[in-house]
Amino acid sequence: MSLSEQDYRNILQKYEEKRSRALQQRDLRIQEVYERIPEIGRIDRQIESFGIRSMQAYLKSHEDPVQLLKKVRTEVEELRTRRSFLLRLAGYSDADLEPVYECPICKDTGFVDGKRCRCFEQQLIESAYDRSHMKNLLQQDNFKRFDLDLFSSVKRENEACSARTQMETILNAVHKDLDVFPLQGPINYLFTGSTGAGKTFLAGCIAKEVLDKGSTVLYLSAYDLASQLSDRRFHYRENESASDAW
Ligand SMILES: [Zn+2]
Repeated sequence: MSLSEQDYRNILQKYEEKRSRALQQRDLRIQEVYERIPEIGRIDRQIESFGIRSMQAYLKSHEDPVQLLKKVRTEVEELRTRRSFLLRLAGYSDADLEPVYECPICKDTGFVDGKRCRCFEQQLIESAYDRSHMKNLLQQDNFKRFDLDLFSSVKRENEACSARTQMETILNAVHKDLDVFPLQGPINYLFTGSTGAGKTFLAGCIAKEVLDKGSTVLYLSAYDLASQLSDRRFHYRENESASDAW
């Protein structure tokens, strides 16, 4: 898929903002804790200065560095234990003083081990296709709201079974697939039927399950899909490789 440099920069900018927001909020919580429990502030300053102080101690006494390191580790451990105890006593946890990232996997950097995180991939898809309304859509379309009673239980003469039985069969098959997704490879569905038969709703429900499982979702109309494919097939730009163009 192709994205303009500006799109890419916008996404990176958003990550930057998210990350600095998380750090700012963490700093505010730390400030609050330091005001309520000044000893924690003192402990943090002590832990921070251990590196320099150990170096100074070594230069002065030429103590065995292995022993010195062992001593430092023990002292830091004791300070951390005391810190946790004081925090718990005041109703906090260690995690309260850590930044809360929207994506704990990449810590809102967008990258893990030099590769794009899943959340970044989702951002790319949303940016490329301008489908940010999908989140709202999926609040409505989910299996919890799927009501089989809306489908007629009456079997018409020219049909093999009632609409409800048919939908029940489809739902069972979809749930079976989703239970093992994505471990057992890709799944393809082609839903056909008249308007109002529940195709879009069902597709939305599936999309939500897929998102909840941590995969990315691309939502676009048949018209958009056809345009994209035709555009890619015949007009991909010279600076894009054929593989970028799907
Ligand atoms: Zn992420």
